[in-house]
Amino acid sequence: MTFADVAAYLDRMEGTRSRNELVKTLAELYTRTSPDEIQPVTYLIQGRLVPFFEPVEMGMGEKLVMASIAQASGRPVAEVNELFNTLGDLGLVAEKLSTGSPAKTPSIADAHSRLMEIAASAGPGSVEKKRTVFASLLHDLDARSAKHLVRMALGRLRLGLGDPTVLEALSFAKKGDRSLRPSLEAAYNRTSDLGLIAKTFWTEGEKGIAALKITVGRPIRPQLAERLPNPEAVINKLGAVVVQPKYDGIRVQIHKNGANVRVFSRNLEDFSLMFVELVAAAKKLKDRTLILDGEAIGYNPESEEYVMFQQTASRRRQHGIEEAAASLPLVAFVFDVLYRNGKDLTPLPYGERYALLGEVLGGSTVLTPAPLTTTSSAEELTKTLLDNISKGLEGVVVKRMDSPYQAGARNFNWVKLKRTTSGQLNDTVDLVLLGYYFGKGKRTSFGLGALLAGVYDAEHDRFDTITKIGTGLSDAGWREIHQRADKLQVKEKPARVRSLLTPDVWLKPEVVVEVLADEITPGTNHTAGKVGDGPGYALRFPRIVSFRAADKRPEDATTVKEIVEMFQQQGRRKVSP
Ligand code: AMP
Repeated sequence: MTFADVAAYLDRMEGTRSRNELVKTLAELYTRTSPDEIQPVTYLIQGRLVPFFEPVEMGMGEKLVMASIAQASGRPVAEVNELFNTLGDLGLVAEKLSTGSPAKTPSIADAHSRLMEIAASAGPGSVEKKRTVFASLLHDLDARSAKHLVRMALGRLRLGLGDPTVLEALSFAKKGDRSLRPSLEAAYNRTSDLGLIAKTFWTEGEKGIAALKITVGRPIRPQLAERLPNPEAVINKLGAVVVQPKYDGIRVQIHKNGANVRVFSRNLEDFSLMFVELVAAAKKLKDRTLILDGEAIGYNPESEEYVMFQQTASRRRQHGIEEAAASLPLVAFVFDVLYRNGKDLTPLPYGERYALLGEVLGGSTVLTPAPLTTTSSAEELTKTLLDNISKGLEGVVVKRMDSPYQAGARNFNWVKLKRTTSGQLNDTVDLVLLGYYFGKGKRTSFGLGALLAGVYDAEHDRFDTITKIGTGLSDAGWREIHQRADKLQVKEKPARVRSLLTPDVWLKPEVVVEVLADEITPGTNHTAGKVGDGPGYALRFPRIVSFRAADKRPEDATTVKEIVEMFQQQGRRKVSP
C-alpha cells in the first residue's frame, strides 16, 4: 500500500458527514492493508507515528514545514509564505506547489520510517536534517499526499478519528459487522495501543486479541467514577463501602520496570519528564515491576497546604522543572496497585489490592497510600464528606471493597461525591467546544460570541450538542478561547458531531472546558440523549469554570449516559448537610 492510497482514503473520509460512512470507509481501507502495514497505517490516520503514550513527535513547526515545502518545490520561502497567507493552510500550500507524481509515491512503510527518522533527529544539525528528510519525502509525493503529510506533521489532520471508530472499523473489516468491538475495546483498555491491537488482530485474530495482557510500560486506561446524588443514595446502592478523600490534582499511573519509571496521565500521555520527584520516588521502591494508580498534587512546604488543580497543572510546562520541583514539590496519593512483580492484580478485590499498598510503598514520603475509612452508614458518610470539604478537598470517592479494577470503565465500583454549594450537591460537567457564533457588542473585539458545546456519546463515538455558553469567562479567557478556536476552525460540520444548530463557525472537537450549570432540562434544540424524534437534553445557565484541556481529551468529556443519569438524579437531589 502506498502513502497515496492512504491519502485518497483520508480525502474520502474528510468529505464524509456521517459517522457510519466513516466507519465503512475506514474498514475498506483496512481490508486492503497487509499485516506488515496495518500498524503504521493505524498511527498515521490519527496523525501519529507511534501510540499516543509514546512521547515521539516529529517536532516540525510551521516555519520548518514552510522551509521544507520551499526546498521540495524549488520555490523561494517568501512565495510559500505568501501562499500560506492567502490559503491559510500549509497543507493546501504543499498541494498547490507539489511537483511529484503518484507513480513515484513511496510505500506507507517507507513514508513512516522516514517520518520516524525526522522524529528521532535531535541536537545540533537536527533542524537541517528534519527539513531535508521532510523535503525529500514531499518531493516524492503527489499533490494530495503532500497535503495530508503536511497536516500530519503539524498535528492538523482534519479528520478526527476517535479510538472507538478505529476499533469498530477493524471489526467491520474482518467480520462485516461491529460485533468484535467489545473484545477489541477490552484489549485497548488493557494496552492503550491501537496499532498493536490492529497488528495482533491481523496476524493472530480474535485469540491473539484476548491474549493481549497488561504490560509495564503501556498505560492501562483508568477506571473512572460514577455520580450519585447524595450519601444516602450511595449507601442504598453500594452497601458497605470504603471512603477516600477526593484530591483535586492530576491522575497519575506510575509504571516501574527496574530503574525505568514512567508516569502517565489520565489521557495516556507520558508525563515522566515533568513529574521528576514521582519518578525518583518510584525508583526507590523495592519491587522490580509495579503499576500504581493515584493522584498527584502540589504541596506547598511553606504553608503546609495542598494547592489547587490549576497550580498543580502548571507543573506540566516543560520548562523550569527543577525550580518548580523545589518550590512546589509533588506528592502522590496512591490508591491502587494494579501490577506487581510480573503479576496482574486487577482481578483481585479492591480490599486485597489496597492491603498491599503499605508494603509496596514502604514508608515513602512522596508516594503515600490514600487514606481510607470504611462505613455502611449514610450519616457517617455525610460526616466524612463534610470533613473533607472543610479541609479544602473536592469531596470523597467511595469504592466497593470487593470490586476488581475495570480498566476504562465508569461504573458504580467507584462513586464520587463532591463539595456542596448552598446545601446542594453540585457537580461540574466537562464539555467539548464544537462551534461558535459571532459576538455582538463588547465581545466582537474577541471575534466570538456564544460557544456551542457538547458531550460525548461513547456508544456511537460522536459529540452531541447540549448548550450554548455565553458567560463565565474573563476577557482574557475569551481571548484565549479565541486563539485556540482559530486553529480548530473547519469549513463544515465534522462527521462525528451531531447537531440541529448551525453555528457561524464549526470547530474540530478538541477543547474541553469545565462547566457549571443550574439544571439539566429536556429540550428540542440539542441532540444530547436524543433518540428519533424525541427531545434531547440541555443545560440551563451554563458558565465556564475552567479550561481542562491539557488534562482531558474530547473523548474524556462528560458522556451522554452520565447526563441522562444526572437528569434522573436531579429530582432526588436533597442533601442533609
Ligand atoms: P472526575 O474527574 O470528576 O470524574 O473524578 C474522578 C477523578 O478523581 C479521578 O480520575 C482522579 O483523578 C481523581 N481522584 C482524586 N482522588 C481520588 C481517589 N481517592 N480515588 C480515585 N480517584 C481520585
